[in-house]
Amino acid sequence: MFKRKQRVIQIKTDEQVQAMRAAGLVVGSTLEVLRAAVAPGVSTSELDALAEQHIRAAGAVPSFKGYHGFPATICASVNDEIVHGIPGPRVLREGDLVSLDCGAILDGWHGDAAITVGVGQVDPARLELARVCEEAMWRGFAAARLGGRLSDISHAVESYVRSQGGYGIVEEYVGHGIGTEMHQDPQVPNYGRPGRGPRLQRGLVLAVEPMINLGAAGTSLDRDGWTVRTRDGSVSAHFEHTFTLTEEGPWVLTAPDGGAARLAALTTPDPVTASP
Ligand code: MG
Ligand code: MG
Repeated sequence: MFKRKQRVIQIKTDEQVQAMRAAGLVVGSTLEVLRAAVAPGVSTSELDALAEQHIRAAGAVPSFKGYHGFPATICASVNDEIVHGIPGPRVLREGDLVSLDCGAILDGWHGDAAITVGVGQVDPARLELARVCEEAMWRGFAAARLGGRLSDISHAVESYVRSQGGYGIVEEYVGHGIGTEMHQDPQVPNYGRPGRGPRLQRGLVLAVEPMINLGAAGTSLDRDGWTVRTRDGSVSAHFEHTFTLTEEGPWVLTAPDGGAARLAALTTPDPVTASP
């Protein structure tokens, strides 16, 4: 009999989610090290070396290195590069916007997260792009409920981005399930109608990662086979966190505080409009 590969969503036990939290903290702290190191004159390969050193010192292994032949620990995507930029001799310059994507494996479990950081003094429109992208990701987490549907997240991300202006939402690259492999089912698009797709249940762990452009949504792939950039040359931003749902709400495994501060800000009623 010919067996078709089944698409199965990996559901983790509480113990396994705890193990993913440990991996997530390695990724989260690595990104904080990188954020602090970003400055004019620093090369993306220097950032890559810092990340690898930090991940290995924590007893973890960089998950990107060797992934389908990817040659580095992080992806560093500058300006019009959206994702999967390969670190190298390129030196960051004042005004650049760089996204840093990082993954690590600890005890067999993966964490995956990304930040976008301005280099020195940055044009306000670029900073606003990054802010909208990050906020959209958090709106996605805040929209996730046990018993809800996967596309509730997608819809929240898209709705927030659209409410903020004419940004291009990248469609060719999406978030994903994550666990004993970096990329698992289901896919998590950054757009779509709510109430669709798999049920959000305990033990489901997802990486949510909006990519948005100052211009149109179109992408193109470089000859290196990795670097994805905007087709129109506009600047792009990318944020990502790995998260799960508990009875208490979203738990962001790659955020040092588990997402508590950002999620509280999103769920606290507005003091002006709240009823007395
Ligand atoms: Mg990533
Ligand atoms: Mg990812």
